[in-house]
Amino acid sequence: MKIAKDTLSFILEVSKSTAPMEFAGMLQAKGDVITDVVIVPGTESGEESATMQLFMLPNIHTIGTVHSHPSGSRRPSGEDLELFERKGKYHIIVGAPFDTSSWTCYNYKGEPVKLDVVDYEFKEKEEGW
Ligand code: ZN
Repeated sequence: MKIAKDTLSFILEVSKSTAPMEFAGMLQAKGDVITDVVIVPGTESGEESATMQLFMLPNIHTIGTVHSHPSGSRRPSGEDLELFERKGKYHIIVGAPFDTSSWTCYNYKGEPVKLDVVDYEFKEKEEGW
């Protein structure tokens, strides 16, 4: 599985600007590349509230979740693991300081998995410019 470089930068930027509050979203893919993040509205501060927001989302077609840990530890909590089992195959946790190495992707069992960062051409973006 892969993730578009721009999508990853977006996740890191949003997480950084949201800190010290948690950021949460759902991941969408085109083929085998994660290209989109559906941001969960109304995320409030608090260590686990972002995860709760993800639990409440309807089952839109997504392949996984992303959320931030402003504390910096990227270890999934018990609640995170429960979420991973229910909401798809790939789950990214980003942590402070939110640089290009401040993220880990987990599978539904909470085991770290490799996610290749690739250049991806966003057609919509090209048309928009
Ligand atoms: Zn968490």
